[in-house]
Amino acid sequence: MSGNASRQNAITSVAKYVTPPAALGDRESLSELFGKNVFGRSAMQDRLPKAVYKSVLATIDKAAPLDPSIADVVASAMKDWAIEKGATHYAHVFYPLTGLTAEKHDSFLEPDSNGSAIAEFAGKTLVQGEPDASSFPNGGLRQTFEARGYTGWDVTSPAYILENPNGNTLCIPTVFVSWTGEALDTKTPLLRSQQVLNTQATRILELFGHSEIDTVTSFAGAEQEYFLIDKGFFFARPDLIASGRTLFGAKPPKGQEFDDHYFGAIPERVLACMHDCEQELWKLGIPAKTRHNEVAPGQFEIAPVFERANLATDHQQLLMVTLQRVANNYGMECLLHEKPFAGVNGSGKHVNFSLGNATQGNLLDPGHTPHDNAQFLVFCAAVIRSVSLFGGLLRSVVASAANDHRLGANEAPPAIISIFLGEQLMDVFDQIAKGGATSSKEKGTLIVGVDTIPDLPSDPGDRNRTSPFAFTGNRFEFRAPGSSQSIAGPMLAINSIMSESLDFIATELDSLLSSGTEFNAAVQKVLEEIITDHGSVVFNGDGYAEEWQIEAAARGLKNLRTTPEALAELDSSEVQALFEKYGILNNRELASRYEVNLEQYCLNINVEACATLEMGRTVILPAALRYQGELAAAAASLKQIDLSYDTTTLEEVGTHISSLLSGLNSLEKALESHGGDSSSEEATYACEVLLPCTLVVRAAADALECVVADDLWPLPTYQEMLFIL
Ligand code: ADP
Ligand code: MG
Repeated sequence: MSGNASRQNAITSVAKYVTPPAALGDRESLSELFGKNVFGRSAMQDRLPKAVYKSVLATIDKAAPLDPSIADVVASAMKDWAIEKGATHYAHVFYPLTGLTAEKHDSFLEPDSNGSAIAEFAGKTLVQGEPDASSFPNGGLRQTFEARGYTGWDVTSPAYILENPNGNTLCIPTVFVSWTGEALDTKTPLLRSQQVLNTQATRILELFGHSEIDTVTSFAGAEQEYFLIDKGFFFARPDLIASGRTLFGAKPPKGQEFDDHYFGAIPERVLACMHDCEQELWKLGIPAKTRHNEVAPGQFEIAPVFERANLATDHQQLLMVTLQRVANNYGMECLLHEKPFAGVNGSGKHVNFSLGNATQGNLLDPGHTPHDNAQFLVFCAAVIRSVSLFGGLLRSVVASAANDHRLGANEAPPAIISIFLGEQLMDVFDQIAKGGATSSKEKGTLIVGVDTIPDLPSDPGDRNRTSPFAFTGNRFEFRAPGSSQSIAGPMLAINSIMSESLDFIATELDSLLSSGTEFNAAVQKVLEEIITDHGSVVFNGDGYAEEWQIEAAARGLKNLRTTPEALAELDSSEVQALFEKYGILNNRELASRYEVNLEQYCLNINVEACATLEMGRTVILPAALRYQGELAAAAASLKQIDLSYDTTTLEEVGTHISSLLSGLNSLEKALESHGGDSSSEEATYACEVLLPCTLVVRAAADALECVVADDLWPLPTYQEMLFIL
C-alpha cells in the first residue's frame, strides 16, 4: 500500500459525497422552531401559576433573590414539560475552569416502595446538585477533604432539551461552587460581576437625573469563526486529533491570497450543514443570524444576535458543541482551534459588548440631545479608562496556548490592548481634552463643539480591523478572544473593569457636586481628566504595523506576547484588588484561576510536543527514508549502466533528514526535563524551550514535504484539507 492511501481514500470519499436531500429543505418555519426546546418565558407562562411565574421573572429581569418556596412548583412543571418532550434524564450543566461545558446526567426515574419506578424531580433537585466532579482542575481551591462541589440553578439562563435519537435530556444551567461557596466555575463570577455593574451604572444614571431605572446589564454578541474539513482528512491527521491543529504542513500553492473565498458562495455541503446547525440553535432559543465564508478557504463564521452576557455566554458554549455535532453528521470536522493551519488566517471570536436596560436603552449609543450625549460620553470614557488601567487583564483573559498563535501574528489584533474610537469620536474627545477648561460653563450644553455628536454610523464601513478593542457605533468589539474560548472570561473582565471606572466616575461626580460644582461642569471636568490621563490607550492607526509596537512601548502600553507573560497579570496586586473590592473573586478564587490557566497551557504545549515527537518519528521520518531509499536505488542503478545521476535531490533529502533527526533528539531531551516546581516555571519552560523545539522539527518536516514524492507523503496536505470539501 502506498504511503498516502488514507489521503487517497479521503479524497475519493469527498468526491463521492452526496448531501442528504432532506438537509436542504426547510423543515419547520422559524417561528415554529425558535425556542421550541427551551423552558423559557412562554413555556413558563403557560405552565406556572401566575404568582410563581411573576416571581421567577423578577429574578431573571430584576435580579431579585430567588424565592426558595417556588422551587417545587417550577421543578414539577419543568419535569412535565421535559417528559412531554421525550426527556428521560436531566442534567445540571456547569462550566468548569477549563472553559469547557460539563454535564452530570441523572434519570428522572426513582424507585418507589412497590419495587417499580416513578418519574421524580423535586425542587431541591432542580435548585441544587452534587456532581462527583472532584477531578476537574480547581487550582487548589478544593483539597480532597473538601472535594465536594455543588451545582446551583441559574434562573437567568433557561433550561432546555438536548435531543438525542436514544432519548432527550433536560439541561439545567447551573453555577458550580465549593461547599464554602467559592466559585469553581466561570459562571459564578460572571453573575457577580453583572450585579456590580448594575449597581455602578445605576449610580451614574441617577446622577444624570433619571428616576425610573431598570436593572442595567451588559450584553454580548459573539461572532464565531471556525473551519470545516472533511472527516476523512481529519482522521488521517494524528496532530488534529491530539491537539486540534496541524503540527506539520507546508503552505499550499494557492492560499487565501486570492480573497476569492471571503463572502463567496458557500459550498452546498457546508450550506446544508449551516442550515441544519441554525435550526438546531433556533430550537434551543439561540438567535443565530448571520453566516458567511471567512477569509481563509474552508473558514466560516456564525454570529447570533446579542443577548445578556450570561445567557450569551451559555449560548455560545452550546453553539460550539452544536457546530461540532452537526458538522459530524455531514461528514465534516468543525475545527474551533485558533490556528489550525500555520500561515493561514486564524479564527477568533469577536465579542461585541454594550450595556443598558429597558428604561434608558443602550448606554453606548450616542444620543440626539446634549444631555444624552454627555451621558454617552461618560460611559465611553469609562471604557477608555478601564481599558487603559486594565489592558493587561483583558490580555490575560484571552491568553491560551492556541490564541498565542493568533495574537500578534499578522492578521489578528496585536497583543497590545488599545482602543479604536474612530475619527469622529476621537475628535470629540480631543475637543474635550483641549477646550474644556475655557468654555465649559454654557448652560444646557456640555462644551462648545460637542453639543451634539454627529450621528455616528453604527457599523461604519471604514472599520479598523486591526484594533483589539474597537468602537463600532453603538458598542465595542473586543477582537482578541480566540475561537475556542468561552466568552465568560472576557465578559467577566469587561464587567469588572467597567464597574470600577463607573464607580470612580460616580464618586468623582458626587464629590464635585457636593462641593458646589454645577453638573455640566462636573461632567466636563471628569471627562477631561479621563481623556488626559488615559487617552494614550486610544490608537486609531494600523495595529499590525511594526511602528505601533515601538510607539505603544513609548506610551507605556503592555505588549504581553505569550500566555505565561499575560497570565502573570492575574497575579498582580491591582487585579487582585479590583476583584476583591467588588466581591467578584476573592484572592483564593483568583489564584485558582491563575493556576488552572497555567496548567492548561503546560498541558497543551506538552501534548503538542509529544505528538510532534511521535509523528516526526513514526510518520514523517519513515516517508522521508523511503524516498531517500528510492532515490539512492535509482542512483545506483543508473550508475550500473554508466549513466550520470544528478544527486541534488538525494542530498537535499539527506540534509532535511539530518535536521529532522537532530530536531527530534533535542525535542526528546527537552521533554525529559522540567521547568521547575511551580506551574509558572513549567509554563515558561513550555513557552521558551518546548515550543521552539517543536518548531525546529516542523521546519525540517515541512521542507521534506516539499521534496518527497507525493505518493509517499502520508499526511493530507493543506491544499487537500482546505480546498476539498
Ligand atoms: P461584523 O462581522 O460586521 O463585525 P456581525 O454582524 O457578524 O458583524 O456581528 C455583529 C455582532 O454584534 C452580532 O452578534 C450582533 O448581534 C452584535 N451586536 C449588535 N449590536 C450590539 C449591541 N448593542 N451590543 C452587543 N452586541 C451587539
Ligand atoms: Mg462578522
